[in-house]
Amino acid sequence: MTQSATTVDVPSLLHLAETARGCGDYKLGVAHSQQAADLAALQGADALQANALRLLAMQLIKLGEYERAARSADLAISLLEPLGDEAGVCKMLTFRAQAYSALGLHEEALTSLGTGLELAQRLGDNLLLFWTLNRIGTSHCDMTDWAQADPFLRHAHELAIGQDLGGEATFCILNNLAWHAQGYVMHLRALGEVSRAEKKLLAGVDHGRQAVDAARAAGHPFREAISSGSLGMLLGLAGDYQGAAEQIDRALELSAAHGYRTVELYALKSTADVSILRGDLPAAIARFTQVLDLATQINEPYVVLAVHQQLSAAHERIGDYRTALRHYRDYHRIERTVNTAAAERRAKLLTHRFELHNAQLAADKARLEARLAMLRSHELEAEKQALQMRATELGRDANTDPLTGLWNRRHMDDQFPHLFRRAQETGRPLCVAIGDLDRFKNVNDRFGHAAGDQVLRQLAAILRGGCRPGDLVARMGGEEFFLAFIDTEFPAARATCERLRKAVEDYEWGAIRPDLAVTVSFGLAAATGIDHHDQLLDDADISLYVAKRAGRNRVAPPMTRT
Ligand code: GH3
Ligand code: MG
Ligand code: MG
Repeated sequence: MTQSATTVDVPSLLHLAETARGCGDYKLGVAHSQQAADLAALQGADALQANALRLLAMQLIKLGEYERAARSADLAISLLEPLGDEAGVCKMLTFRAQAYSALGLHEEALTSLGTGLELAQRLGDNLLLFWTLNRIGTSHCDMTDWAQADPFLRHAHELAIGQDLGGEATFCILNNLAWHAQGYVMHLRALGEVSRAEKKLLAGVDHGRQAVDAARAAGHPFREAISSGSLGMLLGLAGDYQGAAEQIDRALELSAAHGYRTVELYALKSTADVSILRGDLPAAIARFTQVLDLATQINEPYVVLAVHQQLSAAHERIGDYRTALRHYRDYHRIERTVNTAAAERRAKLLTHRFELHNAQLAADKARLEARLAMLRSHELEAEKQALQMRATELGRDANTDPLTGLWNRRHMDDQFPHLFRRAQETGRPLCVAIGDLDRFKNVNDRFGHAAGDQVLRQLAAILRGGCRPGDLVARMGGEEFFLAFIDTEFPAARATCERLRKAVEDYEWGAIRPDLAVTVSFGLAAATGIDHHDQLLDDADISLYVAKRAGRNRVAPPMTRT
């Protein structure tokens, strides 16, 4: 079982922890919760870790390990806050407050609960509201502010019954009402408010019985132990010493069997308190001495203090002033050390919270830095792309003729040898043509250089638009243009040149200048049987010369050559 537990996953461990808690086996529950929390932390599973810490804190409280409980609650809160789990935070604030109260850090407890109450109200969650009100009530009880506690506990009780909040909530508030009644009744009796005290006592006994019945029905030993102890004390206050002894003995028996040391301590103290009520001072003194030993042993300093006070009073009543004085002095000596210890604990817990807060800030900072680094890398990527685009543009500039936007001579000189070689290697056909405007000098002379430029641009557009995308069209210089027809046999290339020639002749040049007319001559050559690209260009040049000599506005050689 323990062997498989080391390899088990977090949800299974949580299930085991929850099951153990449900049975009141808090030691086992703590072991499973701690294991689940550690494993979840290793896996970086924040929500699961927080859930494990919640179970851990709850059960540590039951075992009286308050400092560890407070630290677990702190850690859980620091995990839940960034997750936005407000309900989870609210629950943990309640547990932390319970641990704080037990450690004597009442102010911190009430501060936590104030935040919890705000959250529960904002969330409109009755169960959360119930647990918060319940804890505010018990925190006031811990401070012996019985009158202050009363409305909070009653409100919680109404919620538990009216909203049907389940067995655990119902038991808890009944038990707390019974516990509160003990303190309140003694307080009211001390004030001489006898009838109010008796009313409270009757209600308390009723709540106590309901609590014990509920615990027994649920088969929950811890609940039965604490509620029996409370009921026993109330029965003692009511003068039913027999009933009191029965209940307290049951509480002692269950506590001893399950290791509920704190419950055992309070039950033992109740037997002493009941002895006082019975007026049996020697029995009370004997019991209180036992309580003192156990309280010292399990480190419950507030019980130690209370018992010294009671022992001092009891010894005074039997006339043993020397022992009474000793307990009186012990009380004050211990009170000082308890206060110092509480101050140290407060400092330690606050430091722990501060450290957690710092760790959270550091984590936030790391997250932001990672995000920033990511943004920066996106930015760099964008900059790189912009540079690449600019480089491509610049490259294009260097290879582009600015007037016409066609490739320039440089690009043509770069690319033409490759085109030629590829045609040679693959055996695929290649033809080239040189187009030259006819008597372009006259155009410039008659219509001006600007009109000449417009003609060059328009011619370029006609040539580019009339060729296939894979063909190379370049301005060689002046009014001469180079065309390479890729994968094209001579007749098709010639037909294209002819089509281009016709398109130029037919173009509405009058739109540029009235009376403007433009024609072009083409000299064509095929790569078949040619060894060098320069030779192919020479052939095209010769053909152009032929076209000019034959009268211009034509393609040379004529069709018949094939
Ligand atoms: P041909 O039919 O024999 O080719 O006669 P042509 O007048 O076209 O030939 P020539 O080589 O004598 O003249 C070319 C003219 O092209 C000279 C020049 O004014 C003109 N030219 C060259 N480059 C440009 C240019 O960029 N813009 C303009 N507007 N004219 C140019
Ligand atoms: Mg020329
Ligand atoms: Mg010319």
